Amino acid sequence: MTDRVDANQPPPLVDYNVFEADAPLGEALEREGGAWAHDLVHELGRLAGTQKAIDWGFQANAHPPHLRTHDRFGERIDEVEFHPAWHELMRVAVGHGLHALPWREPRPGAHAARAAAFYVWSQVEGGHGCPVSMTYAALPTLRKSPRLAAKWEPLMTSLDYDPGLVPVTSKKGVLFGMAMTERQGGSDVRANTTRAEPAGVMGEFSLTGQKWFCSAPMCDAFLVLAQAPDGLSCFLVPRVLPDGTRNRFHILRLKDKLGNRSNASAEVELGGAWAVMVGEEGRGVRTIIDMVNHTRLDCVIGSASLMRHAVAQATHHAAHRSAFGKLLSEQPLMVNVLADLAVESEATTVLMMRLAGAFDRDAEPAEAHFRRIGVAVAKFWTTKRAIAVVAEALECLGGNGYVEESILPRLYREAPLNSIWEGSGNVNALDVLRAMQREPESVAAYFGEVESGPRDARLERAVAELKRELKATADLEARARRLVERMAIVLQASLLLRHGDPLVGEIFCASRLDGDWGHSFGSLKPRAQLESVIERHRPQLYSG
Ligand SMILES: Cc1cc2nc3c(=O)[nH]c(=O)nc-3n(C[C@H](O)[C@H](O)[C@H](O)COP(=O)(O)OP(=O)(O)OC[C@H]3O[C@@H](n4cnc5c(N)ncnc54)[C@H](O)[C@@H]3O)c2cc1C
Repeated sequence: MTDRVDANQPPPLVDYNVFEADAPLGEALEREGGAWAHDLVHELGRLAGTQKAIDWGFQANAHPPHLRTHDRFGERIDEVEFHPAWHELMRVAVGHGLHALPWREPRPGAHAARAAAFYVWSQVEGGHGCPVSMTYAALPTLRKSPRLAAKWEPLMTSLDYDPGLVPVTSKKGVLFGMAMTERQGGSDVRANTTRAEPAGVMGEFSLTGQKWFCSAPMCDAFLVLAQAPDGLSCFLVPRVLPDGTRNRFHILRLKDKLGNRSNASAEVELGGAWAVMVGEEGRGVRTIIDMVNHTRLDCVIGSASLMRHAVAQATHHAAHRSAFGKLLSEQPLMVNVLADLAVESEATTVLMMRLAGAFDRDAEPAEAHFRRIGVAVAKFWTTKRAIAVVAEALECLGGNGYVEESILPRLYREAPLNSIWEGSGNVNALDVLRAMQREPESVAAYFGEVESGPRDARLERAVAELKRELKATADLEARARRLVERMAIVLQASLLLRHGDPLVGEIFCASRLDGDWGHSFGSLKPRAQLESVIERHRPQLYSG
């Protein structure tokens, strides 16, 4: 038997407070007005660092959900069975209000507090965040029909996780999903063919058609897009009808996905499903857009969370693993890689919290305009960066990083999802152009934000260059990615200069703005104090 020291294996990253170990998050929570939620996020951070919670994450992914279309008598049931660990994860998430915090406590900083809490808890497991996120996001859309909201909101905001398909009236809490995507076109929802026919009672419809991606199909109700007589409209489709019978919502099969394996994503047939219209007929996209905007914020939070977790694993590993006679964390080239990853992670955390703060302050016109464009910019860029960050962090663990037990493979498979759902990269980049054209105030709000910090010659040059690029009208669509990624980097630079660790801001501007950088992580210009950036990001275990 070799003992741990001789084997040169780091101790497992367990028994630490995921929140308290994250200086950029703690600072941002306070700055964005969410300090009142400190105890909640602290408690989730403590739980997220326990072996018990980490085990739930592994178990829920090792035992993916299972579809049961019929019961033993041949009757349709359309149920998905989840491992008990999934339910434990959900119980913590719902019990701490991650699906509803700003709606339960509509006070300044509530979205920021929820963002911090969701980011911390998602580090345990990403898949179960899907129904949590969709429930959080569905409520603003539902409020467009006050009578429906009055019925569903108390259950959507309840802290009781109450799984199972029973009539809503006998439930202590409910969860929501969404079904927009169809086989013939996901991004272009105007191509939806699901039909909605009036069911004889005002506001009630019968839906017929198929949905190609419908995640978390055991949710209690779904917001669904379908073609009504006056055009594409938004509907609420419950899984169980008021009389206790099942709605005609049939699960055809579950997708065999790259990652996100703890969660179920279904193909669904609506065979004359009973539905109630939400919002105005023919204004489906406008109605559901509020839900989309909130889930897009969650894509940014999810990506920031993945990056943070990957950086925590990499910095922890390097501090305990030796090669060629020295710790990895003392090797100049590894220091360069880790510091570069930490800078990217901090830039994303700061951006995520600033955006969540804009959701809190969206009664102010400038914040509402900033939010409109900022979400699309950040969704495009951070979801792409998460893929690169996780891949590089995985390599920091060498062969151990390629092995499932290290958790890095799970993070790696999860990473691309945020850039696909709720608007893939191109769709988001084009949405930024749409915001610019339809809501020019959003461009002014963006520049108001990036020009509000301390003077920095590199930032000023980048802003001037961006303005020139935006003025040119030729090939705008083909240049959308180039523009949007530049907008994201300029925004991150300005936020870091104002609020981040000064050294992190300096490194970000030198590398990402001024181009003193290569094409892979670890190509920063060597400088003293890079170790201090790593130490800022390295989690400390309770035992030291
Ligand atoms: C795990 C998972 C879970 C999901 N869960 C749900 C769910 O619960 N509910 C739901 O409704 N949907 C869900 N989706 C579907 C998801 O939102 C869609 O896959 C996504 O919107 C893209 O649509 P699509 O797959 O039809 O691709 P397409 O629309 O065919 O797009 C393919 C590619 O073309 C690009 N593209 C599209 N239009 C343009 C253009 N004009 N110019 C340039 N490029 C363009 C896109 O960016 C994309 O890269 C889920 C997807 C995944 C992977």
